[in-house]
Amino acid sequence: MPASPPVTGRVDVVVVGGGILGLACAWELSERHPDLRLAVLEREPALAAHQTGHNSGVIHAGVYYPPGSLKARLCVDGARRLERFCDERGIPFSRAGKLIVASERGELDRLRTIEERGRASGVPGLRWLDGDRIAEIEPNAVGVAALHSPRTGIVDYVAVCEALAAVLRERGHVVATDHEVTGTVAGPSSVVVRHRHGEVEAGHALFCAGAWSDRLAERDGADADPRIVPFRGAYLHVVPARQELVRGLIYPVPDPALPFLGVHLTRHVDGRLSIGPTALLVGALDAQHPLSVRPADAARTLAWPGTARMAWRFRRAALTELHHAASRRAVVRSAATYVPSLRQEDVGPGFSGVRAQALTRDGQLVDDFVFSQGRRTFHVRNAPSPAATSSLAIAAYVVDRFDEAGR
Ligand SMILES: Cc1cc2nc3c(=O)[nH]c(=O)nc-3n(C[C@H](O)[C@H](O)[C@H](O)COP(=O)(O)OP(=O)(O)OC[C@H]3O[C@@H](n4cnc5c(N)ncnc54)[C@H](O)[C@@H]3O)c2cc1C
Repeated sequence: MPASPPVTGRVDVVVVGGGILGLACAWELSERHPDLRLAVLEREPALAAHQTGHNSGVIHAGVYYPPGSLKARLCVDGARRLERFCDERGIPFSRAGKLIVASERGELDRLRTIEERGRASGVPGLRWLDGDRIAEIEPNAVGVAALHSPRTGIVDYVAVCEALAAVLRERGHVVATDHEVTGTVAGPSSVVVRHRHGEVEAGHALFCAGAWSDRLAERDGADADPRIVPFRGAYLHVVPARQELVRGLIYPVPDPALPFLGVHLTRHVDGRLSIGPTALLVGALDAQHPLSVRPADAARTLAWPGTARMAWRFRRAALTELHHAASRRAVVRSAATYVPSLRQEDVGPGFSGVRAQALTRDGQLVDDFVFSQGRRTFHVRNAPSPAATSSLAIAAYVVDRFDEAGR
């Protein structure tokens, strides 16, 4: 994509970040307020270059989250909105369906809790399967029981972002890449947003900056707590000849103490099948490799008091994740717990993404979405999975707050 011409002058709202949340928020603003002039500023040369373009591509149904939490509400609503948007714009998606498999009896209580949560949150079509019925859904999966969520879907989130950006541009708004925002100066009636090529004046600025959200919020005067720490997730691809091993999506029962769902088998809309992701704390917000280090990123993570507390609290899980990151065999063995015919030679190199995970000063991994408001600014401070699924519902929530504040 050619570099965008420098964005200057004045608009009504600047949205910082060209991932799915920034684009969804700009789209929602343009739906509700066609009179507003908007500019989306993205630091990379392409949209969706970070989490949004490197995730599992799952449209989550909302089974895991405590009923009534923002995550539960916005996931169920977001999945509905996303499917509608894809239908309207001709973006392929599929309700591939998902099994959450309990591999041992000790996981059954946790699986029941997930079922109860899903039902209380209004997730459609949930079905409990005893072990001997798992093969009706996934002939190669085994377990003592499973929860089937037939409405869990798959989509290409980059295609969704391209469609959102296309609508915004058709409506005359600016969507500019290669425009890293460096700071803001708020005045009584406007905010000046400084970027790599100059500055633009706006009535309001809305920040959806993923892994960089804490820095931008801090520069805007917000509390340093929570800080974003990067967890790299790596996937393996199943070789084409073995892709029919799994029909849809198969997940383990997650550890309730962790915000990650565990190593799963995921069908993608292009037909490929992947295994992953791992979850390794890394030294760079854009770590391409497990050992990538950017000194400034690593220093922020290490200097944060919550990091050592988290590392101590999750020392067992950290060891498992280190093992997964270092050994392809360990990842395949994990997935083979519920698909035993999966063999080491069935997998090849895959892809990776870095999760932006908020961590509190006292070492808690923040599970729910977090927002904060400044003077003429609004920040999305934690948007972990399933924020891609929930993006259009999060956008509606954010624009509600924006409207309540009287713009
Ligand atoms: C491995 C992995 C698997 C996942 N699986 C799923 C899944 O299956 N389903 C699901 O719903 N969710 C999933 N997620 C979560 C989901 O991808 C994220 O929650 C979602 O993409 C967050 O969107 P975002 O726009 O906030 O962040 P991002 O996509 O990270 O976008 C933030 C953008 O802000 C830009 N930016 C940062 N700083 C600046 C600046 N100073 N100036 C301008 N631009 C800036 C960045 O370049 C980036 O493009 C997964 C995430 C990962 C990493």
